[in-house]
Amino acid sequence: MPKPPATGCGAAPVLKERGQREVFCGLTGIIWLHRKMQDAFFLVVGSRTCAHLLQSAAGVMIFAEPRFATAILEETDLAGLADAQDELDNQVAQLLARRPDIRQLFLVGSCPSEVIKLDLGRAAERLSAVHAPHVRVLNYSGSGIETTFTEGEDACLAAMVPALPEANAKSLLIAGALPDVVEDQMLGLLRAMGIEDVACLPARRADDLPAVGPDTVVALVQPFLGETLAALTRRGARHIEAPLPFGDEGTTAWLWAVAREMGVDANTFARVTEAPRARARRAIAAASGTLNGKSVFFFPDSQLEIPLARFLTRECGMDAVEVGAPFIHRAIVGPDLDLLPEGPTISEGQDVDKQLDRARAARPDLTVCGLGLANPLESEGLTTKWAIELVFTPVHFYEQAGDLAGLFARPLRRKEKLRLEAA
Ligand code: SF4
Repeated sequence: MPKPPATGCGAAPVLKERGQREVFCGLTGIIWLHRKMQDAFFLVVGSRTCAHLLQSAAGVMIFAEPRFATAILEETDLAGLADAQDELDNQVAQLLARRPDIRQLFLVGSCPSEVIKLDLGRAAERLSAVHAPHVRVLNYSGSGIETTFTEGEDACLAAMVPALPEANAKSLLIAGALPDVVEDQMLGLLRAMGIEDVACLPARRADDLPAVGPDTVVALVQPFLGETLAALTRRGARHIEAPLPFGDEGTTAWLWAVAREMGVDANTFARVTEAPRARARRAIAAASGTLNGKSVFFFPDSQLEIPLARFLTRECGMDAVEVGAPFIHRAIVGPDLDLLPEGPTISEGQDVDKQLDRARAARPDLTVCGLGLANPLESEGLTTKWAIELVFTPVHFYEQAGDLAGLFARPLRRKEKLRLEAA
């Protein structure tokens, strides 16, 4: 198992900032959630801005009828709130009549004041009563006032928890949306250790919703699921604390925490993980030559920053200058913080101008940040990595460990190539 450094960042002071922030809103999560939940539909109740965000974030979907849309509310729709509720009911009725494949419908709130006045929770209850049992209607907020972009997934999964069936036996639940191919790899490893009965939240289909109860143990594959974990805990589930499954170390520590909980012995664990671990180490080594000795600065964006800084410093030889996260859920990222060697500034929240000053002063070799900051920083000669790519790309578990290192190495290689060409 990974050895913690003599002094990790678990007890390091946290620089808390509450100023202007530069992140996408929680609607962005719909882009990966609608792919994961194959019979779900996301109806954003929002403005034209929300529709544009979704359209540009998702690209033009020409291959299938999309499974998200925006019900655009204008001021005039709210001349009477009763009219707005009727309008929403009509839109939902038309959608469900046209799309009998939809089994779960999420009404997603946004930040225009017209939408905030609407009680989407009551609307979801009313519509559920009308369209049950074929369709379950739930609601959550993806508003930019309340959520940063990965919190949209957290809000969505947390909204599902009260509707999950009751488990009355020991069960293992993995929470967090993974691409199907990565989820299958994870399930294959657990199965090879003898852990057959594993449920995932979100499930791919409404009929496979996981059960949860006092004998459920839950492992998270994403660090941004604080509300979901709280909701599962309220249902009696117990959290398996572990580093997040990024890189060889994180994956091994995560799997071992789950395996130990499920009674797997050390020999079986070593036999199952030996070959994929070796592959992961080789793949990381191939990419990390570029990263070794370089410095990295994380702006707060996805909440993946702390586990990724742990991976980059311990497995790829990078030096972290600052690791900023929008929120630090110690119950979730505590094990990663303990493994992260002391040195970087750990910051929570954002005051973007002050943080930009710190980045400019440090001149890191690589800056991980949102799209809005990347271009200005590039124009100042800093090399950047878009944080959002880390959420859209398969990066978890052993087989993706080399790709994960490669995602950080690529901008540095490109920069070096341009420098050589210019010389
Ligand atoms: Fe913009 Fe708010 Fe809509 Fe997000 S929810 S796109 S921040 S208006």
